[in-house]
Amino acid sequence: GREAILQGENSPNEEDKSLRPQSISEMVGQLEVRERLKVVVDAAVKRDEPLGHILFDGPPGLGKTTFATCIPKDLGVNFQLTSGPALQAPKDLVPYLTNADEKSILFIDEIHRLPKAVEEYLYTAMEDFRIDIVLGEGTNARTINLQIKPFTLIGATTRSGMLTAPLRDRFPLREHLDFYTHEELAEIIRRNSRKLDVTIDDDASLEISKRSRGTPRVANNRLRWIRDYVTSKADGHITLQLAQDAMAMQEIDSLGLDNQDRKYLNTIIRVFAGGPAGIEAIAHTMNAAPETLADEVEPFLLRSELLVRTPRGRMVTTKSVEHIQKMIAAKSKG
Ligand code: ADP
Repeated sequence: GREAILQGENSPNEEDKSLRPQSISEMVGQLEVRERLKVVVDAAVKRDEPLGHILFDGPPGLGKTTFATCIPKDLGVNFQLTSGPALQAPKDLVPYLTNADEKSILFIDEIHRLPKAVEEYLYTAMEDFRIDIVLGEGTNARTINLQIKPFTLIGATTRSGMLTAPLRDRFPLREHLDFYTHEELAEIIRRNSRKLDVTIDDDASLEISKRSRGTPRVANNRLRWIRDYVTSKADGHITLQLAQDAMAMQEIDSLGLDNQDRKYLNTIIRVFAGGPAGIEAIAHTMNAAPETLADEVEPFLLRSELLVRTPRGRMVTTKSVEHIQKMIAAKSKG
């Protein structure tokens, strides 16, 4: 369901799965989130009740789906997965609700993209575990109110601000996932090197972590590329030098920005004199979707203080102007 233009390193893919932790104890970082989850999980198990509904929000690639898949595994309950854009009408949601076993998990990714009618249909399902279904057609149609099994909804969104208050309020536990530290990412890289059967020097894993935009999915994608690089060009062991060379070949800079990130900053600098500029105008100039920029490009730039948001639009910072100039100079030299 994501826009094609940025379908690079941020889009979930099949390959994500092989490196995905299988239980919460295998996850790195997000300590506070994990501790709060442990409390609600323990309590639900002790009371022999379904876990309360949980909402995860935060930029792509930070572990929302990983949490949602690990929780049912840890609890030993069934799991169903769907997404906001896949649920166009209440009838699309009905099979998931009627198939849900007691205490099982239903995961809805991109829950901010649920159509209004589907969202409202979800309210009574979440609250009272009851749904209305229509039987028959035309003049013979009649509505029956059906009791469903008490289940747990896990929602994930990159935009909690786009959720309506009634939906948000139906999640007793709401967790925001934040960017990871370099040390946490380096740990993920070391573990995943073992899973991918490649050896890596510590200074190399730290360097990759510094250039992974605080995001495990990005770290994994960098690692896969570097692994291919060292397999092709060297003996398969990742040293600092080889990691740097491999990332240079992909034009990933010292801050971990890629071409798309630099193009975004450079558009504001060049076309909009540094800003403020509206996201629609920036997206239009770049021929990109505004939602994609807001979801996948801006969060890390904001948090790195390369970008600021003002009431009048986006503005670059001195730090980003200096960085972009340095990159342009390096490119014209090289
Ligand atoms: P999101 O759903 O937030 O977009 P995912 O849960 O799909 O992100 O995470 C992307 C990948 O990053 C996962 O497949 C997993 O390999 C890795 N990952 C995410 N969070 C963690 C974590 N806390 N520890 C280890 N790996 C993680």
